[in-house]
Amino acid sequence: MINIDKLTEFCSKFNCRISTEVLLSDYITFRFGGACRALIDVNSAESTAEIMKYLKANNIRYAVIGRGSNIIASDNGFDGVILHFGSDFSDISVNGKTITAQSGTMLSAVCKKAQEAGLSGMENLFGIPGTVGGALYMNAGAYGSEMKDIVVSAEYIDTNGKICTISASDMALSYRHSIFSEKECIITSVKMELSEGDPDNIKSAMNECIQKRTSKQPLDFASAGSTFKRPENSYASLLIEQCGLKGMAVGDAEVSTKHSGFVINKGNATCNDVLELCEKVKEIVKEKTGYVLELEPVILK
Ligand SMILES: Cc1cc2nc3c(=O)[nH]c(=O)nc-3n(C[C@H](O)[C@H](O)[C@H](O)COP(=O)(O)OP(=O)(O)OC[C@H]3O[C@@H](n4cnc5c(N)ncnc54)[C@H](O)[C@@H]3O)c2cc1C
Repeated sequence: MINIDKLTEFCSKFNCRISTEVLLSDYITFRFGGACRALIDVNSAESTAEIMKYLKANNIRYAVIGRGSNIIASDNGFDGVILHFGSDFSDISVNGKTITAQSGTMLSAVCKKAQEAGLSGMENLFGIPGTVGGALYMNAGAYGSEMKDIVVSAEYIDTNGKICTISASDMALSYRHSIFSEKECIITSVKMELSEGDPDNIKSAMNECIQKRTSKQPLDFASAGSTFKRPENSYASLLIEQCGLKGMAVGDAEVSTKHSGFVINKGNATCNDVLELCEKVKEIVKEKTGYVLELEPVILK
């Protein structure tokens, strides 16, 4: 049992907002998911470290979310506390060719800041609807670019609540993977190095990315983006399409007819609908092609 009054009092020391019985459906882009016991909007590395230590000392489960754009949240919610990295933790600073952003900063906001400063290297990442912390955690990427290409270092909180720095070479960054998904560390800020570029050219490249996304992706529906990781030597969307699975549905969860790599929520899909559909897709793809698909979003339960 979480003592919400004590937790609220503890968070107030750091001016961190806390809300109770929050529906995860309001915090994840897939738009389903039950309630968590409390959601704390963290606002600094120091306060996050103290709150994390408090939660651990009191045996309270916790999980970290950013924009919730790569999360499948359980219909039963989360019996613990969510540390939310959002607008309360979203400063960006530019120093020469280096940009440092707090983890709750939207990746697209960093891209815009880079464009204004005439810094190139993030154009292809524009439009990924996540935070900087979430992007580093997933080593997010698009159109041939990924976080790995620009990250220099990051600040994080280790499992003992200590604030540490790690350089990119120690982050084990690879396709949709980082060391942060192996260890239960919390990323608090990310330092990126870009190169000089012409602001107008950068802007055009960013606009092109948005056009590609709008024309190819089912952005009118809730989703978590690509539902499956790219298998070696193929593409999940191609395999799914080849198996004739476009439009396959369980409840309101559907394999998008616009982009077969996306499972979408047509309105009232539940977590169970999505997971059941994904299992069916995986089974059929394996049976017909031999490829084993793996979910890209993280399941929060
Ligand atoms: C329409 C759409 C299009 C998308 N297109 C792309 C794309 O082109 N390329 C791509 O790579 N992804 C894409 N995604 C997926 C998603 O946007 C990215 O993976 C994004 O980087 C996730 O960031 P987030 O803040 O939403 O993370 P969340 O979904 O909130 O979290 C994802 C994981 O990261 C962890 N995490 C988040 N913040 C932190 C932190 N500060 N410290 C430690 N762990 C943390 C969470 O615990 C969770 O395990 C898309 C999603 C949607 C909905």
